[in-house]
Amino acid sequence: MAGGQKPKRNNEQAGRFSTPEPVRRLVWVRAAGHCEQCGVDVTRDFRTGKTFNWAEVAHVLPASPQGPRASAGYDEGAAERHTVDPDNLMLLCPSCHARTDLDADGYPTHDLSRHHRDHIDQIRHAASRGETQRASGLVILGGHFATENIVRARDLADAMLSESLWADEDIQILRLRAPGLDGRDEVYWRAIEQDIDKSLQDRLTKRTNALGDPLNLAVVGLADIPTLIRVGRQLGDRSNRFLFSRDRSGTLRWIDPAAPAPEWTYVGPPPGDGPIALVLALSAALADAAILDALPGARIARFTLPTPEYGLIRNRATIDSFRRALQPHLSQLEASTPDPLHLFAAIPAAIALEFGALLSTNHAHQYVIYDREGGSNPFAKMMELGPRQPSPTAIEQ
Ligand SMILES: [Zn+2]
Repeated sequence: MAGGQKPKRNNEQAGRFSTPEPVRRLVWVRAAGHCEQCGVDVTRDFRTGKTFNWAEVAHVLPASPQGPRASAGYDEGAAERHTVDPDNLMLLCPSCHARTDLDADGYPTHDLSRHHRDHIDQIRHAASRGETQRASGLVILGGHFATENIVRARDLADAMLSESLWADEDIQILRLRAPGLDGRDEVYWRAIEQDIDKSLQDRLTKRTNALGDPLNLAVVGLADIPTLIRVGRQLGDRSNRFLFSRDRSGTLRWIDPAAPAPEWTYVGPPPGDGPIALVLALSAALADAAILDALPGARIARFTLPTPEYGLIRNRATIDSFRRALQPHLSQLEASTPDPLHLFAAIPAAIALEFGALLSTNHAHQYVIYDREGGSNPFAKMMELGPRQPSPTAIEQ
């Protein structure tokens, strides 16, 4: 809010408030003189070449209770407040202004607000590039699901900017191949690993030649859990990772940057001779029966939350906290048996990547990763992960 600014009634349209001049100027300055929708420079007449400010100050929530996007409870007081709030005021060219107000359903409040915030953030970061860190952006899309789960490069760029990470070149979208007729077998995993190595190798080589810094990598992945674990292991020891997580609404920005870490709980396996199943039940509960069906006689160790939920990752600190909380238990489990540890996981994508990264650095044990072919099917053995071998391409170089 710009404190102390009192909106005036607009005489021509009864009930409509108008924005005071100082607030209007702030809207122009924050938008850096460009339309927030189409990006056109609104300080210049292109035909005559003259300087000419031709944009309009537009409302997300309207200047009157009857305006576009006003809901039932939107009264005069709300209209008055929103008319002096720069967070509610966009700089738009006349045609974008007309379109967003005529098609209020097509431009709902939350979309416009988010876009407005992103736009202002982009300008702020562009104007203060000295403070930003550069990072390579990587979007990994699995080929196993036939889903519409698409993350656009633009989404990652926006999320990166919100954390002062500047994409140092085009964001790379890596679409992994789909499994063949034999499903996700060892041939498939080797092919996936090579695809990822190849795409990372290009980045790493370029980066090292340019500055010699370790690569900052901003990563978001959408794939099945075994793939994400595999990718995470490949990323783990070779870059500074900035993992992003996509929430149900599709945004990659953190839901709540200040949220405290969840209360992780751990129960170790009972004594005995059976194989050890490590259950990570974070986004959904996993019943013992489902584990025992796939691994009879298993001794189950559980790392979970009081209430597993899909939206548990509210900020990057959640991921760091997961790593710190799990690490000692992994070490203990590994020390307790020379046999493989069997992993059953219901976890968000970013946690799967982080788990894989953990395996690359400190945990050179044999793991067997289980997954389901679709939500209701039983768990099946999907992939074995041992200590990472150098890939053939790395040896050639
Ligand atoms: Zn425009």
